[in-house]
Amino acid sequence: MTGGNLHPELRATLMSAIAERAPKVDRDRVAACFDYAATSHGTQTRESGMPYVSHPVEVCRILLDLLENRMDTTLTCAALLHDVVEDTSVSAHDVEKHWGKEVASLVEGVTKLSAMHFDSREAAQAENFRKMLLSMSRDLRVIFIKLADRLHNMRTIDHVRPEKARRIAEETRDIYAPLAHRLGMASIKRELEDLSLKVLEPVAYQDLARNIQAKREERDAFLAQVIEQLRESLKSVGLKAEVLGRPKHFFSIFNKMRSGRPLGEIYDLFGIRVIAQTRNDCYRALGVVHDLFSPVAERFKDYIATPKSNLYQSLHTTVLTEEGEMVEVQIRTWDMHRTAETGVAAHYVYKQGGRVDEEIDQRLGGFVTQIAGWQRETDDDEYMDFLRTALHQEEVFVYTPRRELKRLAKGATPLDFAFLIHSAVGRKTVGARVNGELVPLRYELRNGDTVEIVTSPQAKPHEDWLKIARTAHARGKIRHELRQRRLADSVALGREMIEREFKRSRVRPTDAQMAALLKDLECDDLETLHARLGEGQISIHQVIKRFQPEKPGLAERLTKGPLEALGIGRKAAGGVRMQGIDNVMVNYARCCQPVPGDPVIGIVTIGRGVSVHRQDCPNTFGDRVPAERRVSVEWDSRPTDTFPVRLVITGQDRSSLLADLAKAIAATGVNIRTAGMQAEHRMVRGVFVVEVPHLPKLQEVMAAIRKLPGVTRVERRQRLLRPPTGRPRAGAQDGDDD
Ligand code: MN
Repeated sequence: MTGGNLHPELRATLMSAIAERAPKVDRDRVAACFDYAATSHGTQTRESGMPYVSHPVEVCRILLDLLENRMDTTLTCAALLHDVVEDTSVSAHDVEKHWGKEVASLVEGVTKLSAMHFDSREAAQAENFRKMLLSMSRDLRVIFIKLADRLHNMRTIDHVRPEKARRIAEETRDIYAPLAHRLGMASIKRELEDLSLKVLEPVAYQDLARNIQAKREERDAFLAQVIEQLRESLKSVGLKAEVLGRPKHFFSIFNKMRSGRPLGEIYDLFGIRVIAQTRNDCYRALGVVHDLFSPVAERFKDYIATPKSNLYQSLHTTVLTEEGEMVEVQIRTWDMHRTAETGVAAHYVYKQGGRVDEEIDQRLGGFVTQIAGWQRETDDDEYMDFLRTALHQEEVFVYTPRRELKRLAKGATPLDFAFLIHSAVGRKTVGARVNGELVPLRYELRNGDTVEIVTSPQAKPHEDWLKIARTAHARGKIRHELRQRRLADSVALGREMIEREFKRSRVRPTDAQMAALLKDLECDDLETLHARLGEGQISIHQVIKRFQPEKPGLAERLTKGPLEALGIGRKAAGGVRMQGIDNVMVNYARCCQPVPGDPVIGIVTIGRGVSVHRQDCPNTFGDRVPAERRVSVEWDSRPTDTFPVRLVITGQDRSSLLADLAKAIAATGVNIRTAGMQAEHRMVRGVFVVEVPHLPKLQEVMAAIRKLPGVTRVERRQRLLRPPTGRPRAGAQDGDDD
């Protein structure tokens, strides 16, 4: 690439800004980089009509505002090249070849994924944030460039067509501004918010601008007088400190007004800021302020002793002047001031190559580590959910019983606190004491609360916890636990079903047979098969029938074949004895699934022999079946015979219910043929097909199920067959148990 002659005026602007404000930057390299960017963007223009390269130059200037003389050559070059991969024919590889690995990886971090990979704009948005934030967690300069880029795009948004502008402004308001805030970069955050407000609420914005201007003229003289008084007092006690007026921020005023406060009552509209030399001086200055004016109770906050989780430090107080006007005063040192305005950028040092300092991350409440952690565990929706929650939080400060201060999102509950202490604590939580009193887990923590978590080794995360936990951190951990446990439950249940069935049917499959089975059922491994069995997606019958195709289980034999075909004595094999009828096909009605011990009746069906029903089965009632078809039957089964019964179980959704059910049934020594559960809202409906020898055993099973916590009902399936004709479909197998 050659150059040096494209856009000389933009080049000069850039070079003089660098020379003036960041003398350490390698100017030759930056000049060459500008030429490369200018040539790459060629004749591209911005929507404003400006040459495209004016945009990366402005991004550099915003970064200079942010970092001043800590701006470095790598960051400058990456900012100049930040759009070449996305918008020109230059590839990531080209950037690396000409400008080195570090610049290339920064550019890669801010380059969007190709939109072609995605089904929807939402999916693309989620994936792009995921990528950008992961890059950010490795190198903070990615987010510096991205925020500077967004800020310049917002400054020039008037040229963008309205509907696209709204979309950009919304994303700015909902994600970029909160992200800047989370990282303590207040000056960028304020400007992003005000610019998006201007796009999203143009009328309100103009009104506000007019009203604030009017108010300002009214208050200017008054404030000047307060500032003067304060300066005098500070000087008289020998404190060197600056006293300044504070800039207005439309967006926060707009929000306060929207929550119902008239403009006149927003007394921090024009505040005062005192900037002292040392931390100690801040407290002395506070004394001076409170000496001069009376402080308003409950409006004092010490963010120096307890910094906010975006690194912000200051003393805040609101005072009442002699005229009865309220004024908010913020007191901080110059260092605190710089951190308050630029956040993590104030702590950025080149020698760490953009990696966030461990101590800073800790002061940020582990935000950067958290972001990297979410990458693995979440799908797109969850990711955006996490991001929004993590970004839109105000905070509450509470204590551990050992008086350690912990910081949580506003609205957090003891459960969030428990997971903040440690996942192992969270997982075992059963209750909490706040300031010595037992509180419900949903209790909303308040500033200054002392929180003690009550744990029990038996406790387990519960679905309901997702409604109680408010922080992204706790919710993420709970979701993960529930998912793991549900899977483990299903796997255990599936394994038990298959092992019992193999044993019962005396099947011992070879490895090759098992491999073929897994392949046919499209399971990657045995555990997947167990899980799908346990979840009811595959029935045990599908598995077992492969190993004994011509030897159906007793239940099948009884319902399908003529007695002789079963190869066992007729009387015994039938399980029932029939009055005066010999040698007929017997089947057990699927509608009511009789078991030995149930009062039963036989119905002669045309071509299907005799169906055995329970006497209370509605399908046998007089209007459905003519008297001549009824025959009386008596049970005559052997203890080893088993009969399938479908049980319908309803209850409240909770984790491990499925596993508990399986365990309870297995404990009675009864085989489970299939199991499945469906959750809806907060209820579940489970269907278990069990194989029992007789009614007392079935009653025992049902009693065991009823005893389980959360189970509200357990019933035998009882179905009315549709056509009320003389030919009941009893015995016409509907096959749905398989
Ligand atoms: Mn850009």
